[in-house]
Amino acid sequence: MAGIDIEGLATVYPNGVRAVDGLDLHVADGEFFALLGPSGCGKTTLLRTIAGLETASEGTVRIDATDVTRTEPGKRGVAMVFQDYALFPHMSVAENITYPLKVRRVAAATRTETAERTAGELSLQGLLERKPGQLSGGQQQRVALARAIASEGKVLLLDEPLSNLDARLRLEARTFLKKLQRDLGITTVFVTHDQAEALALADRIAVMESGKLRQLGSPREVFARPTNTFVANFIGSTPMNLLPGKVATSAGTPADSGSVNGAVGVVSVAGGSLPATTISTPAGAEVTVGIRPEYLTLTTSDIPGPAIRGTVVVAENLGTQSLVTVDCDGTLIGVTVPEETEPAPGTPVTLTAPLTRVLLYTKDTGDLLTHQPAPVP
Ligand code: ATP
Repeated sequence: MAGIDIEGLATVYPNGVRAVDGLDLHVADGEFFALLGPSGCGKTTLLRTIAGLETASEGTVRIDATDVTRTEPGKRGVAMVFQDYALFPHMSVAENITYPLKVRRVAAATRTETAERTAGELSLQGLLERKPGQLSGGQQQRVALARAIASEGKVLLLDEPLSNLDARLRLEARTFLKKLQRDLGITTVFVTHDQAEALALADRIAVMESGKLRQLGSPREVFARPTNTFVANFIGSTPMNLLPGKVATSAGTPADSGSVNGAVGVVSVAGGSLPATTISTPAGAEVTVGIRPEYLTLTTSDIPGPAIRGTVVVAENLGTQSLVTVDCDGTLIGVTVPEETEPAPGTPVTLTAPLTRVLLYTKDTGDLLTHQPAPVP
């Protein structure tokens, strides 16, 4: 088992594209780590650079404390599963699984024993004699995983491992993969553009944009406390509300108010105001206010204190919840409510939010202004 250390890593393609652009990352021993970001942000290039399939232009890659930056792929101790699985169509499942062992000239009896054991771990019993073309997509994906695991690499690298499966199978395979990774305890880095998949599977997530790291944290941290509006926009099945706002009452700096970090202020937005930690942000400052639909509370009665007032435009059923869109002085704000409390279009409503859920970002760079570490549930 092994950790991965990446320092100052850049991967530049011959056409000049800096697909990975100065990255520092540490993946802990046994961690399930996701590389997440929109198409073209450099996730696959980073994974392939760790594997040695792309050459690092700058910086270093260490696996298990050994510098492998210039080591050929086969000698890095990594096992990779490609998006299209790359199974050999003319070989049986057993031959596919044990191919890396055959290359290393491992004895046939040991290979058979490994094939049987790995097939057991990956629920492929009874399929060892079949060819890949005679398997379902989910079974093919498990054969590719079995081959990677049988090769006994120190780290497992997965490129969009679930993207070729249909929605239902993907959920099953997701659960299977998480359990398998936990059971084996193998350090695993997986690439995905699906934020829900990253939130569900990973111990930690690196969110990338244009070859750079935008946030690194646990699923809870990146969901509840995005450190910039790029991550805020990217994470969450229902998008975060990002509203133009202005600090109405500032608590001033800690020195002014004598208060501790996180002094309470008020920020005005379309349709009303919300409480916010306005530490060091003066009254009158223009900001972007971030609040997730899940953290807003909708009522049909008027309540005292900072609140936003508006009129229901439409409600969409999400299963047990509904996403209600509220028109607040011309700005549309999303709020989720239990499905049975869904208000009818045209209903006047009031929205409130707890202080710790209201995030302030700078208007120009989109960086988080609310420095006080809010409790993450
Ligand atoms: P996707 O989710 O679409 O696979 P990604 O985040 O994995 O995207 P990469 O495939 O790593 O992104 O690509 C990063 C950037 O590098 C993109 O701008 C892409 O066009 C460019 N790129 C990728 N492969 C090459 C290559 N072989 N030669 C030149 N440029 C490339």
